Amino acid sequence: MSGEACYLHPQTLSVAKCSDCAKPICEVCLRKVNTKPYCEACAANRYEQSPWLALLFSFLVPGMGQVYNGDWRKGAVIFMTGWLVFPWIYGIVDAVTVANEIRNGVRETATVPPGYLLLALKLIIVPFACIYFGFAFALITVLVGLAKLMLQLS
Ligand SMILES: [Zn+2]
Ligand SMILES: [Zn+2]
Repeated sequence: MSGEACYLHPQTLSVAKCSDCAKPICEVCLRKVNTKPYCEACAANRYEQSPWLALLFSFLVPGMGQVYNGDWRKGAVIFMTGWLVFPWIYGIVDAVTVANEIRNGVRETATVPPGYLLLALKLIIVPFACIYFGFAFALITVLVGLAKLMLQLS
């Protein structure tokens, strides 16, 4: 592609540039993540985007699929409004669509999600889901209680 030598193998011509650090890389050093070229070091900080994980995350906790896709802001908005149900459903569809686009290299991630983020998400997803479902349940209980009270008063 270019006349530059690989950053690790000075005798070998590079075939691509790393998408993160822009180092020239040869065929041997080339790693592909989400169809994009990376050097070995940068590839270790990336992961293949999985629409299935995005689906699972955003189903369990509204907005979590967006965080997985690297969009913290959208995730926060959906997390705050997820109990209205519609944003929750929208979040699931959006997370799967965006994850698919990232995986196919059509869309860039909003931030650079490092590999450890994926691990962290897997670890916190269960307690977070419990808190969220617990919160939604408590809210419904309070609303039902209020409705009963209103009926008794009327
Ligand atoms: Zn790199
Ligand atoms: Zn090389």
